[in-house]
Order: sequence, then structure tokens, then C-alpha cells
Amino acid sequence: MKIGIIGSGIAGLSAAWLFNKHHDVTIFDRQSSLGMDAFSLDVEHQGKTIRLDVPMRLSYAGYYKNLLAMYGLAGIKTQHIKASGSFSTLDGKTYAKFRNISVAGLNLPRFTGQSTGKYQVPQMILDGMKYAFNAPRQLQNGMIPRAQTFEEYFKARGFSDGFIDGVMMPMYAVMCTCSYDAIRNYPAEVIIDNLKPHMFFSGFQQIRRVVNGTQEVVKRLSYDVKDIRLNTTIESITRTPEGKVLIKQDDGTEHLFDHVLLGTQANHATKLLTDATPTEKEMLSSFTYEPCEVVIHSDDSLMPPRRADWGAINFIVDPNHQYPYSTGWMNGMHPDLKPDAPPIFHTLNPQVEIDPKKEIDRAWFERPIVTQQSLAALDTLNQLHREADRNVWFIGSYAAYGIPLQESAVKSSVNVAHQLGVRIPWERQ
Ligand SMILES: Cc1cc2nc3c(=O)[nH]c(=O)nc-3n(C[C@H](O)[C@H](O)[C@H](O)COP(=O)(O)OP(=O)(O)OC[C@H]3O[C@@H](n4cnc5c(N)ncnc54)[C@H](O)[C@@H]3O)c2cc1C
Repeated sequence: MKIGIIGSGIAGLSAAWLFNKHHDVTIFDRQSSLGMDAFSLDVEHQGKTIRLDVPMRLSYAGYYKNLLAMYGLAGIKTQHIKASGSFSTLDGKTYAKFRNISVAGLNLPRFTGQSTGKYQVPQMILDGMKYAFNAPRQLQNGMIPRAQTFEEYFKARGFSDGFIDGVMMPMYAVMCTCSYDAIRNYPAEVIIDNLKPHMFFSGFQQIRRVVNGTQEVVKRLSYDVKDIRLNTTIESITRTPEGKVLIKQDDGTEHLFDHVLLGTQANHATKLLTDATPTEKEMLSSFTYEPCEVVIHSDDSLMPPRRADWGAINFIVDPNHQYPYSTGWMNGMHPDLKPDAPPIFHTLNPQVEIDPKKEIDRAWFERPIVTQQSLAALDTLNQLHREADRNVWFIGSYAAYGIPLQESAVKSSVNVAHQLGVRIPWERQ
């Protein structure tokens, strides 16, 4: 079959990798390089060129089952990063820190900090243990109603405000890259499904990155695909009466496919599908997006004032912030950046001025938000995908259950592969 894939983020690339073994695949992307690697950055650092993944692309065993299985089979090597973090107030008080400690060969998390105001360290530790022990079991036993929001989950179970506002909301607002309003209203079940207790109790040592970064991922996943069209913006997709799909580029060039997998975000997909049915239109418009800004720089004034408090991820928390503000210290998360070398930072939504002389790059992204409405839209998407004569398919981080991360993007491609009878090499037949 002739398969057209629009968009080469991880959804489009994983679909290409799965389908290309059996079918004739063409990838289109409007970017000048494969989409997943389009914002990666070459930085001159101590006489060497270092390629940074922008945005960061972390994963961990236990949750990223499809992504890591595919990486394994595609020969993409991953490595642990030294996970650690800090939470500070705007005026520089670091009220919580986590590190990994090794005791008798076991990796365990260690929490410390300086209690201040409602951020009381012993209480936050107790709350953290209570959450990590209980939440997955509560989800498994059906004790978390579908309509319960993330904030309601904590309030209903007596967690302290310091733990909710000072740790949970900032951490998950960063992971979901959304506003504080959106994270409070996230369906609790979706976030708790992401929590794998072994990660917490192994001192976060399961967190991984790709050894050679995103450039290795795009190279290996697209390796055998003969027809890759970059700098190519698709303008429209139309289903023909003969059961084919006609796609049109913005320069007027047309292509005919048996199936098209739309790997753009939902808010772009809705503009491309000229003959979208009312159900498709309503489904696609039910996925909402929020913007975020990422700055790569070397300005350490965005970090906790005491260097001893620096971790791999550093959250600065203030009740007046609408969006989460955090800085990743790339040294130690990248094999070519040693911890004692001049630092490079990755700041999400900076809330203070960055020294222009220390700014390296700035990029803007959009991320889908999970809501009750988007969960219902996902049910509709799955129903649409079961239609007998379907030949336009929706893939992307928004198009499968879970926090919109790389794993949900790959899962969405796997779901379409199942519908079209394509074998998933890491699944038992
Ligand atoms: C700041 C930040 C940090 C993140 N950190 C992590 C992390 O640590 N771990 C993790 O798992 N996830 C992380 N994510 C989320 C993850 O990056 C996304 O979930 C994932 O990249 C989405 O992939 P996708 O294939 O669904 O979509 P995209 O990557 O958005 O791909 C869509 C592609 O479609 C192309 N396109 C759009 N319209 C057209 C058109 N008309 N014609 C042709 N091409 C078109 C675009 O150019 C793009 O390449 C992070 C996201 C952000 C913003």
C-alpha cells in the first residue's frame, strides 16, 4: 500500500519505522530537517560542538514501554541520567531538594531542604511517600473517579498545601508543560497512571536519555524510508470517491495515497482535512493547546543562589506565576558536558530577564492539554479509527491515552498499525 505520513515528530517517525517494513512510505514535513530534530541545537562549548536536544526528551522504563522497545529494536541506545532537583521560592530559599543515594547497593531517593512558611520538609516527605505508595494502587482499584481533577485528588485526601503547591503542581506542570490552572484541572487518573512507584523508590535512577541525542533517533527511525520530503508544507487532504486520499502541497503539487497518517498536532490537522465530517471536526477541536517558551543560556542567576542546591531540574515557585518556571542544568545530563565545566541551562518559561550576552537560543512550543473534554474526544477518535473504510488516521502525542509525551505519540502509531494489520515487532503475536 502507498502510505503518506504528514509530520515527522516522534509519532510520524515511529509510524514510518513500523509501516516502512511492509509498505511504500512517504514522509512530509514543513521543517527543513525531520521534525523531531528540528529545534535541536549545536552549541560551541570549550572548543567542541555539542548538540543539545531542544526540548529535552527524557523517558523512563516502566512508562515508556513502546518508545523504549522500539528504540531497542532500532539500535538506539539510551543511558541513565543522574536525576536530582530543587524547589525554591522567588527570593531564593530552597525548601526542597531530592538526590539519589546508594545504600547497600540500592538506589534510594533522599529529600532535604530548608522549611519555610507552608513548605515544611518533614510534612512534604510524608506526603510524598503517601502519594507514591497509595496513588497507583488507588488507580488500579478504581478508587479515582474519572471526573476527579489532580487538585481534587490531593484535597480530598488531606495532603498539605505545601506539598500540593510547592512540589506536585510545579513538577507536573513542567512534565505536562502547561499552566498551573491546567495542571490543577488535569484528570487525576492520567497523571497517576504515569507514576511508577519503582521509579520513586529507585531514587529516580530510571530516567533516561538517548546517548547520541535526537539526531540519532531521527536517523535510525527514518533509515530505510526512501521518500522523505522536507521543506514541504501540506495544504489540504481530501478523500476521493475511489477510496484514495489526495494530498496537496502549498506549491500545488498533488499526491495520491491509499492511507494518510496525519502526524501533525490536532489543531493543525483540523485545518488540513478539507472534507472533515462534523464528528471529526468536533473531535479535533476538543484538543486544546497551551504555549511555552524554552531558552538555552548560561546565566546562573536563574538557578538557586547556593550552588550546593543545584540539581538537574530546578523549580522556582511563586503563587503569582501562571506558568511553571524551571531550569534544567544540562551538565551531567549530557555525556559531553561535565558537571564542573561552564554550565549550560535549559529554562522553561523564564520569569526574570536573562543576560542577553548569555542567551544562546530561544524557542516556542505548544503542548496539548488533557481535559475531560479531550478524554471524551479520544474515545471518539478510537471509534472513528474502527470504521471499516477509514483511510485518514490521526497520530500524535494527543492521539493516545496518557500525558502527551513521546510514549503516547508512539502508542498512537501502534494503534493505527493494529488497525491496518501491521505487525508490532515488540508485541507477542
Ligand atoms: C518544553 C518541552 C519539553 C518536553 N519534554 C519531554 C520529555 O522530556 N519527554 C517526553 O517524552 N516528551 C517531552 N515533551 C513532549 C514531546 O516533545 C512531544 O510529546 C512530542 O514531541 C510530540 O510529538 P508528535 O509527533 O506528536 O508531534 P510534533 O513533534 O509536534 O510533530 C508534528 C510535525 O508535523 C509537522 N507539520 C505540521 N503541520 C504540517 C504541514 N501542514 N505540513 C507538513 N508538516 C507539518 C511539524 O513540522 C512537526 O514536525 C516535551 C515538550 C516540550 C514542549
